[in-house]
Amino acid sequence: MREGRRSADSAGVRAFRRLLRGAGVVLVLLVIVLGAGVLSGPGGLPWAVRVTALPAPAPPSPPPPPEPEKPRDRPPAGLEVAEFPRGVPQPPPAGGGTYAFTGLQGDGVTPVAYDPCRPIHYVLNGLGAPPGGEPIVHAAVARISEITGLVFVHDGASDEPIAVDRPVYQPERYGDRWAPVLIGWQSEQEEPALAGDVVGQAGSAAVSLGRSPSIYVTGTLVLDAPQIAPVLERRGGRAVVEAIVLHELGHLVGLAHVDDATELMYPQVQQQVTDLGAGDRTGLARLGAGACVPQL
Ligand SMILES: [Zn+2]
Repeated sequence: MREGRRSADSAGVRAFRRLLRGAGVVLVLLVIVLGAGVLSGPGGLPWAVRVTALPAPAPPSPPPPPEPEKPRDRPPAGLEVAEFPRGVPQPPPAGGGTYAFTGLQGDGVTPVAYDPCRPIHYVLNGLGAPPGGEPIVHAAVARISEITGLVFVHDGASDEPIAVDRPVYQPERYGDRWAPVLIGWQSEQEEPALAGDVVGQAGSAAVSLGRSPSIYVTGTLVLDAPQIAPVLERRGGRAVVEAIVLHELGHLVGLAHVDDATELMYPQVQQQVTDLGAGDRTGLARLGAGACVPQL
């Protein structure tokens, strides 16, 4: 019996404990609900409660911005653009001289120039070149580089046809970059701009983006092979041809003609003026100190 009662007691205790556990659960739930009610209710509590502000739920993350569509009319921005100009222009002669620029920025004073923070690539189309023509071109490029501080890189030969209004961006031919400067030889039958006594022509294409300064990104220089070849065969002719190429390179980097016969940018070839004058060099120094425009 004792055993039986004990068993009955035990059964009662178990039932009570179950009840307690159930009550306990109810109690805990009540505390939570009440606590929540107290904490979220209006103020005026009789005791101090430090309520730590819960972090606001994170807003749903915005969808990632759409990938900017790659522009199709130009290469990726800032190719080969260094943080600083790659070279330093030579100090211009103290006396100054006459010079003029082909293009000016919006301020009406600053010339349009090549970006000095990136190299100027150039290619040669040797078709129709007179014997000895190519070394003269490289020597003249080196001279312009020396005066302006602009860095030129010879990319080799190209069979791109010479044209003054060629596209500035030709990814099929030159890859995803601005087309290099194209230098070549033609006759006036091929290029009407060389008609008459014109022995060369050169110019560069300027681009800008938004409010950026305009910069030249490529250009074309064409020399009149039938007129230049006989000059090369004359005594002292090489210096004259070098002067012609220098004059055209002056145009390429942004110099315009001047009405001063002591300067190489005078429109007529002069046997006695075979090197850059003081004004030419002053203008070239300014053209070597243009803006770096990495957004292009
Ligand atoms: Zn000219």
